[in-house]
Amino acid sequence: MKTIIVIGGGITGLSAMHEFRKWRKATGAEVRLLLIEASAQLGGKIQTVRHQQFVMETGADSIVARKMDGMDVFEELGLKDDVVYNTTGRSFIYAAGHLKPIPDDAVFGIPASIESLAKSTLVSAEGKVAALKDLYTKNETFTKDDSVGAFLEYFLGSELVEKQIAPVLSGVYSGNLSDLTIASTLPYLIDYKEQYGSIIKGLEANKQKFRSGEKKFFSLKNGLGSLIDAFQAGLSEELLLNTKVSRIDKDNGRYHVHLDDQDMIEADYVVLSIPHTAAEPILDDPSLTEQFSGLKSSSLISVYVGFDVPDSVLPADGTGFITATTDELFCNACTWTSRKWEHTSKSGNLLVRLFYKSSHPSYASIKDLDHDGLLKVALRDIEKGLGITAEPVVNEITDWSGQMPIYSITHPRSVHALENIMSDVFPGIILAGCSYYGVGISDCMKNGADSARKIIDFIEG
Ligand code: FAD
Repeated sequence: MKTIIVIGGGITGLSAMHEFRKWRKATGAEVRLLLIEASAQLGGKIQTVRHQQFVMETGADSIVARKMDGMDVFEELGLKDDVVYNTTGRSFIYAAGHLKPIPDDAVFGIPASIESLAKSTLVSAEGKVAALKDLYTKNETFTKDDSVGAFLEYFLGSELVEKQIAPVLSGVYSGNLSDLTIASTLPYLIDYKEQYGSIIKGLEANKQKFRSGEKKFFSLKNGLGSLIDAFQAGLSEELLLNTKVSRIDKDNGRYHVHLDDQDMIEADYVVLSIPHTAAEPILDDPSLTEQFSGLKSSSLISVYVGFDVPDSVLPADGTGFITATTDELFCNACTWTSRKWEHTSKSGNLLVRLFYKSSHPSYASIKDLDHDGLLKVALRDIEKGLGITAEPVVNEITDWSGQMPIYSITHPRSVHALENIMSDVFPGIILAGCSYYGVGISDCMKNGADSARKIIDFIEG
């Protein structure tokens, strides 16, 4: 009987297990399945914490609805009726002491009409004129492998990019725009430039796509942790928690998976769905060193603060703000969670979430603060950014140091090279997860299922 081991019980590993179990049930295949997770609970970067009336997610809080098309997992796990959608509302950019609305009709801060550009309160008249270059300048040099920052600046001007686009886009893709490719962010922009002669006109002509609209993101009424619980419910004896894999050795076409340097389990196939920084020492093979070092990560600290006051104390009608990095707040963004996600505050009291990212110039000065120090920084940002001085009743701080993958310009090349070397040196071991194939939950779920299918194909020949 073949043994398949999935290492890492985040959403990627859980999705791989789910796919294997479906296949085994459907075909009666005789395989032994085992999921090994280092920590005491499954979920990795998806963990829900409940405190008093608040529901907080230490990592991911939502799933892009559009990207789940064609995936039936929520139905299969009996969670369809638990799906809840975000309340849409205005987002702001905090600049020079004020909350300024991101213009309507903008996609990731990029104007999707001339009117949207004209009405922006974030950019000067000169900045708007500079952006009009987009309308009369052809693309003769940029390809999808070029930096999205350079591409946008060339056609839309540096002021619009710096003040309106970069705060949004680098927040979504966790990186500096000059280090991110067009391909890994907004590949369609270059097609629009080609087809419509203008990024702005291209977005305008395709507005409907970006307005999939009211229901863009979804979560679950008891938090995303209930997705993890539903996956776990089927696993029972096929799960080892609190067990860290320390090494994998090859042995005559099979693998010895060493646990905490003590026990060993033999496997025919392995899905290695852990961050690349954990995978590299486990494989410990010099032929992979260069490619692993091409994969980059950044850091983030998430701070939730809950108050015993209704969220009507918020200064504006909306769902949160992001900051331009040059201003006087320490945070990159502040989500008005109780507004955006009704299920997170049963009482309607105020719950906000602040994000502190390593891309912010002030990050170095706060990253080593203890819990109380970080809370103080957050309360100061809440006071400055929102004018709220109430005493908090709940807080939840999570440090995701070095845990946020960044897809740099060379990322696809490194991943491709890793795949080639892995198939020669470790055939039967599949690298999977957010370090390689997309950070979004839906990307990870798809990648987990695809990784399982690859192994199923090996087995079925
Ligand atoms: P992980 O979740 O990192 O899981 C890997 C697992 O492997 C962990 O459980 C770990 O304990 C285990 N492991 C590590 N080493 C070993 C070992 N040696 N032996 C055994 N087990 C090991 N995505 C969205 O789509 N929407 C969002 O709103 C969103 N927000 C986010 C906010 C934050 C703060 C963070 C951190 C991420 C967010 N993401 C979001 C991204 C998304 O959550 C992750 O990309 C995704 O959950 C990663 O899943 P994974 O299974 O690939 O990896």
